[in-house]
Amino acid sequence: MKIAILSRNENLYSTRRLKEAGEKLGHEVDIIDTLHCYMDISSSRPAVRFKGKALPYYDAIIPRIGASVTFYGTAVVRQFEMMGTFSVNESVAISRSRDKLRSMQLLSRKGIGMPRTGFARQPDRIDDLIKNVGGAPVVIKLLEGTQGIGVVLADTQKAAESIIEAFMGLNANILVQEYIKEAGGADIRCLVVGGKVVAAMKRQAAAGEFRSNLHRGGQASLVRLSPAERKTAIDAAKTMGLNMCGVDILRSNRGPVVMEVNSSPGLEGIEAATGKDVASMIVEFIVKNAKPNNTKTRGKG
Ligand code: ADP
Ligand code: MG
Repeated sequence: MKIAILSRNENLYSTRRLKEAGEKLGHEVDIIDTLHCYMDISSSRPAVRFKGKALPYYDAIIPRIGASVTFYGTAVVRQFEMMGTFSVNESVAISRSRDKLRSMQLLSRKGIGMPRTGFARQPDRIDDLIKNVGGAPVVIKLLEGTQGIGVVLADTQKAAESIIEAFMGLNANILVQEYIKEAGGADIRCLVVGGKVVAAMKRQAAAGEFRSNLHRGGQASLVRLSPAERKTAIDAAKTMGLNMCGVDILRSNRGPVVMEVNSSPGLEGIEAATGKDVASMIVEFIVKNAKPNNTKTRGKG
C-alpha cells in the first residue's frame, strides 16, 4: 500500500512514528509538506502537484494538519479525496472539529456530556452570560487558543466580567464554561481509532495550575476508563465523524464531560504514558479501510 503523511515537519515525533510503523508493516510511506502542495482545480482529473510533478496515486493519506494551517490543509485533503484517496480523517470532519463552537453545538445536539457552556461575541449582559453557566468560578476561553494558552480561570463574578470585557475589546469569540472543580486539575485524553479507545492517559496539572496541558507542565500517567468514559469518547469521535482523534474528558460529579476533540492528536505523550504502539494501530486501521473512494464525502463537503 502507498501511504502519504501530510505533515509540515518530518522530524516531529508523530510523523516519524507513523512512517516507521507503516514501513514496518510493509507499506511505502512518503511524508509530504502540506503547504508545499499545489493543485490544478480546473482540470477534470484532479491532481495534487508537488515540486514540479503530479504526485503518484496514494491509497491513503494521514493528515496531520496543524491548527494554524487548517484552511489550506483541509483544501489539500479535499483534493486527495476527489482523487479517490482514502483519508484517515476526512476534510469535512477536520474542519468541523477545528471550530470549537461548531463542535460543542454538535456534541450538545447528540446529548454528549459537556461542561455548561456559553459563547458570545458582544453580549450586552455579561452578568447574564456568566449566570447562565452557573456563575463564578468560570473558565473563559479564547476560541483560537491551543496548548492551554487563552484559557483563564475566573474565581469571582467581578474577575469574570473584567476578563470577558478584555476579550471583547480584542473582538474575539469567547467561550464561557462552568469550572469543573472536582476534576482536580486533571483531564483524560482518550485516543480513538476506528471507533475504539486504543489508549488513554490522565494528565495532571502542575501544582497551582488548573490546566493539565503537557505544554503547561502537566504530568501524564496511565488511567483505567470507566465504561461511561469509554462510551463518551467513542460517541464524541463518531459525532465529529473522525476515525482518529483525541477526545479530552473531565471527570465531573455528573459523569464524564467532553472538553474538546482533536483531529491531529500527538502520539508522543500517549505512547510514552501507555507503552502502546498507537502508530501501528492507526496504520492497521488504514489497511482495513483504505479502499478507493471509501471516503463518505469524496471531497464534496
Ligand atoms: P486548549 O485547546 O488550549 O488545550 P482546553 O479547553 O483544552 O484548551 O483547556 C486547557 C486545560 O484547562 C484543560 O486541559 C483542562 O485541564 C483545563 N480546563 C479547561 N476547561 C475546563 C473546565 N471547564 N473545568 C475545569 N478545567 C478546565
Ligand atoms: Mg486542550
